[in-house]
Amino acid sequence: MTDRGSGRASGIDADRLTHEAWSEAVREGDLRGQRCGDCDAVQGTPKAACPHCGSTALETVELSTEGVVYTETTVNVPPLGVDERGYQVAVVDLGDARLMARLEGERAEIGDRVVLSGYDEDDDGYVTPRFERQ
Ligand SMILES: [Zn+2]
Repeated sequence: MTDRGSGRASGIDADRLTHEAWSEAVREGDLRGQRCGDCDAVQGTPKAACPHCGSTALETVELSTEGVVYTETTVNVPPLGVDERGYQVAVVDLGDARLMARLEGERAEIGDRVVLSGYDEDDDGYVTPRFERQ
């Protein structure tokens, strides 16, 4: 008998967007963000307070899974624990918010249109979205 989930909202919205809910959305191919109720700024990852004005009136919003490469770089010296080299990371402009992501497939340049294509997850359950060129 499974009693999982009782007392826990499944996935979206339990008032405040958590990293867990954000990660779960990415695994399902969705992106969530937070819109500030005071200054209207939108961020692509969960924060405790609005980075622009400090407000904690943050509403969970659905973000586009398509965007444009705002900036990109190739990681030739990976962080400790990562064996892969020469992979591309980018800040993807989703329109409402910008999001740090890995790029996969054909090399993308600044201004290229990209779409959410998957994710990476490390041993600690930290999820990073992957995008590829459209
Ligand atoms: Zn704000």
